[in-house]
Amino acid sequence: MATMRVDDKLGFVRFRVDEQNPHIVLNEEYDDEKEIRLLVMACPAGLYAYEDGKLSFNYEGCLECGTCRVLSLGKAIERWDYPRGAKGVEYHQG
Ligand code: SF4
Repeated sequence: MATMRVDDKLGFVRFRVDEQNPHIVLNEEYDDEKEIRLLVMACPAGLYAYEDGKLSFNYEGCLECGTCRVLSLGKAIERWDYPRGAKGVEYHQG
């Protein structure tokens, strides 16, 4: 059996987006650029962007890995929860 690469496995990931309730909320006031750039680099799904001094984020493709929670909860991230009910990421390959 051939080994699948991580990128190939992620092609099977599905998301059930909870459009009413973002499960991660940014602290709009946070402005430590060094910490913010760390956050942008660390997210494996590339959901954070930092341009013109402004941090932006799209929770819809979140893999729920918790990396950003560990790095930045209480700093650039104001709230981090798992999505409600059957919402969020759904893995199909390992
Ligand atoms: S939990 Fe993981 S995938 Fe989701 S936003 Fe944070 S670092 Fe990115």
